[in-house]
Amino acid sequence: MNQTEINAENIAYIGLGSNLDAPLIQITTAIKAIDLLPDTTVLAKAPIYKSKPLGPQDQPDFYNTAIKVSTSSHPEMLLKLLQHIEITLGRVKKRHWGERCIDLDILLFNNEQVNLPHLTIPHAEIRNRDFVLKPLLDICQDLTLPNGEVLRDLLQQCPCNNLQPATSPTD
Ligand code: ATP
Ligand code: CA
Ligand code: CA
Repeated sequence: MNQTEINAENIAYIGLGSNLDAPLIQITTAIKAIDLLPDTTVLAKAPIYKSKPLGPQDQPDFYNTAIKVSTSSHPEMLLKLLQHIEITLGRVKKRHWGERCIDLDILLFNNEQVNLPHLTIPHAEIRNRDFVLKPLLDICQDLTLPNGEVLRDLLQQCPCNNLQPATSPTD
């Protein structure tokens, strides 16, 4: 396993999702909060996509995007910082894969694999989610997983989730 050095410059990809309380504004606000973290800078933003919910169907459609960041935080610290932003924005856990005002997932971190009880990188569901793969590829079309799998190929094999472009009101 690669050990991330403290203070080293790391590249991470973060997935953002929302389906409550003005989702486009939630996503824009979360991106700004991530950029304001002292050790983290947003380098690139993908377009936002709208899709059908994965879990319970009696909830609004989801809005999803991904960003690329540079950070000196190690993966567990980045997770803590993102969870703090989720709480600050008012996220309340209601039900598994249920509605939420903001969801921040670490999708990729350098070329590292992390397998901890509370943190899996690459994100465990990355292969099954077109609303994750598509925005990642919008940012970088040559992305691969640490095991060499090519994201372009994964998107072709991925179940379709009725992905549609959505427009952010504030960008
Ligand atoms: P999913 O993980 O399938 O997208 P979810 O985002 O709805 O589901 P949450 O309730 O937001 O799940 O998070 C549950 C737990 O997942 C978190 O408490 C966190 O410890 C863990 N987790 C594991 N890997 C990651 C990751 N790569 N990014 C964010 N959280 C992760
Ligand atoms: Ca998620
Ligand atoms: Ca999550």
